[in-house]
Formats: sequence, structure tokens, C-alpha cells
Amino acid sequence: MDKNPKAANKRRPIRKPRAAASVDIEDLTAPSGYRALGPTSAVAASATVRAELLRWYDANRRDLPWRRAAEPGRGRGEERAYAVWVSEVMLQQTRVPVVVDYYCRWMARWPTVHSLAAATQEEVNEMWAGLGYYRRARFLLEGAKQIVEKGKFPCTASTLREVRGIGDYTAGAIASIAFNEVVPVVDGNVVRVMSRLYAIPDNPKESSTVKRFWELTGQLVDPLRPGDFNQAMMELGATLCSKTKPGCSQCPISSHCQALVLSSQNASIKVTDYPRVVAKAKPRSDFAAVCVVQIAQGLDQVIADMIGKDNFFLFIKRPEEGLLAGLWEFPSILVDEGKTDLPNRRKEMDKYLKQLLCIDVKQRASVILREDVGQHVHIFSHIRLTMFVEFMILNLKDDVDQLCKEGKDSIKVKFIYDDAVESMGLTSGIRKVYNMVKAFKEKRLSEQSQVPARKRSRRLKQ
Ligand code: SF4
Repeated sequence: MDKNPKAANKRRPIRKPRAAASVDIEDLTAPSGYRALGPTSAVAASATVRAELLRWYDANRRDLPWRRAAEPGRGRGEERAYAVWVSEVMLQQTRVPVVVDYYCRWMARWPTVHSLAAATQEEVNEMWAGLGYYRRARFLLEGAKQIVEKGKFPCTASTLREVRGIGDYTAGAIASIAFNEVVPVVDGNVVRVMSRLYAIPDNPKESSTVKRFWELTGQLVDPLRPGDFNQAMMELGATLCSKTKPGCSQCPISSHCQALVLSSQNASIKVTDYPRVVAKAKPRSDFAAVCVVQIAQGLDQVIADMIGKDNFFLFIKRPEEGLLAGLWEFPSILVDEGKTDLPNRRKEMDKYLKQLLCIDVKQRASVILREDVGQHVHIFSHIRLTMFVEFMILNLKDDVDQLCKEGKDSIKVKFIYDDAVESMGLTSGIRKVYNMVKAFKEKRLSEQSQVPARKRSRRLKQ
């Protein structure tokens, strides 16, 4: 550690980090009219960098199902493009090992863009469950429909950008990997490699820097093997040129790496100073009352039947726009930070159930059990959502179908059997809430089995 941080900071080329909103990969937008420029005198070493990088990639690339599917000469261009598209969108969500599983299941179910176009949003959401950022799954489906309607898979970066949900990054990946177009791709991994290779100290989130990354990568991309070159750059960033522990001694382009040169000349500079770390904007804090409503239709001996087949869970469909658009969840309502106490949450939840779903807890059902189950914090890219979870068992006086019919038109509700919830495609936050309730029920059942029968019903209604 530097004993004189002030002096060290003075020497470093990195400027003070500034807060910035978190950036989506497709927000790394290429400058309008950008093009692959080809080698210039300013990048004299380009040819060597390309050759060394490709040699390393050929020897070290990971064997991944979408790479096999997109190999040159394998299948039609449309098939390769679809494989690249699906995998790239998934890779924007999570790590490679997780994507392999999702990708294989997705391709087994929808092997072509035509089969995907015939799917429903609900089916796609179920398949996507757990990957997060469901807007991307919606765009995949909408994009597939658009392509099928047009009758041809676009094969250039510029025409691919016209497809719903496809931005510069995905367009570059599909065009270069599936159709051999000489265009670059710039994702977080490429930004890391390029900022080190050229020792670029600027804020990587600023549009002028992003523009520079696209231009520099465009100059470097291999004219004969653009798809492999782009994958090699991403592979290098994902493996050797990692965020905190780059393996420079094994790096195929270390002799060209400017950050490595600077770090060898000045002990206060590290290659990990590049790219400059920009503080993320603090996520907004939201608070929600969540009520897992179980309908125990026509049952009196409820606790004994808590896990019986006649029990349903109430699900509500979220609005078609906004956060988690069109996904199913348990009844939830946002509450103010200062009003997260139990009486207020219950009051808000009862109002919500009555006004929007026509479930008047007092008039049309008897509450057999209602208890706080706990809290779960779910982090979205820009929101920290604290969910206060309640579990409520209702014994309805009317038929459950009647209840559905009377829900407000704008609100879609459905009742799902306990068994079916297990296999339902739920977001990870809602799955966590469901598991909390399951654990609560199991604990309560085991406690209940130790209580004499006469005291049981009294305890339930407390
Ligand atoms: S030499 Fe090190 S820092 Fe430079 S590109 Fe290679 S792995 Fe990254």
C-alpha cells in the first residue's frame, strides 16, 4: 500500500470517479455512422495483435454449445444467427456456466426463430425465469415475430439494429459471428481489454469514451475472421484479463499492452487501474407489502390440509409496461418508507384486495391464518426492494371462479395449485417469497403436530 496516498494520487493518470447510472450493454452505443476502419499507421501493431489473439483463441477457446452451432459452414446463416442472438442476450444476463443450461433448454424447445415466434409471452417468461431483466425475453419474442413477418433474418449489423431489442452490441455479434461482417463488438469485457491495451484513463461510461472504444475496436477487428476476433476479445476479457487479477504473464497480447508498460515503469500504477472505476449510482429504496394468499376452499380443518390438493395460491399479473412487465406475482403493493409497520401494511393490503380484486377479506371470506413471515430484499439494477411478506389463508364463502370474474378488468388474476407453483416460472424474488412461506408452513405444521388437538384451532386464529 502507498504510504503517501496524496502523492500517489497525484502521479496516477486516473481521475476521481464520478457517480454514474448503471449502464446496460446495449447502451454502449456505437457512434452514428461508425465503421470498421481497418489498419492505420496509428495502430501499427494491429496485425500482430490480431494474429496473436486469434492464435490464442484457437488454442484456448471454451467449447460452448452456441459456438458449435455458429461455426462457419454449419447450418444456414439464419440458424447460426439465431443461436448467436439467443446466447448473446442470455450472456448479457449472467455467467457462462449458467447460460449453458438455459441455452440448451431454450434451443430444445424453440430450435428456430420460427418456433420461437409461435410461442406465447407466458411460455417465454417461464423459460427465462431466474435470468432476470425480463424485458430482454420479451424483446426476443417480439424480435422473432418481426423477423418471421419480414420473411428473412437480417444479415448486416445495420439491418439487425432494426429488430426490436437488438442494439449495437448484439447486432455486431450476430453480423460478425454468423455472417462474417467486419464489424466490432464492444461489451464490458472488450472495454476492459481495450482500456488496458491502450491505457485509456477516461470514464468508460462517457459517450465520448464509448465512441473511442468502438472506433479503436473497429480498427483492430480482423478482416478475415471478424466473428472469431470479436469472440477472442470477449474471451480474453472474461478469462485472462479479469477485473481484479489479470493473468498478464500468460496474455497473448501482453507485449502490446500499454497499461502493463506503465505499471512496469511506475510502481503506483497497476493494470487494474484501467478501466477507470466509476461509482455506481445508489439504487432507490422501495418497500412493498406482499401477501401470499392461499385459498382453502370449503375446508374447516385447515391446518391439517395446509398442503392439501384443494389449496390454491392467488397470483396477480403485473402491468404490461415497467418493472417485471407482464409477470405473475403474489399480491403486492408499494408502501412508504415510514409506513412499513404491520397495521399499516395490512390496511393497505386489505384496501388493495378489496378495491382491485373484489376480495373483501371481512365479508366474503374467513381468515383462517394471517401472519408475518419475514422480509426479503431483492436488488434490481436501480432499485433495492424490501418485501415485507405476509401469509394469509382464506376460506372463501363463494366459489373461487366467481372471485376471478369479479376482478377489475385491468387486473389479471389466477389461482394456482400448490403443486403447480413448484414448477411455475417465477422471478427469483417471488420464488424466494414462496420458499419463505413454504418454510413457515413446514415449521408451523411441525409445531402443530406437537399441540393437543383441542388447542389447535384456537392457536390458529390468534
Ligand atoms: S497484459 Fe494483462 S492487462 Fe494487458 S491485456 Fe493482457 S491480461 Fe489484460
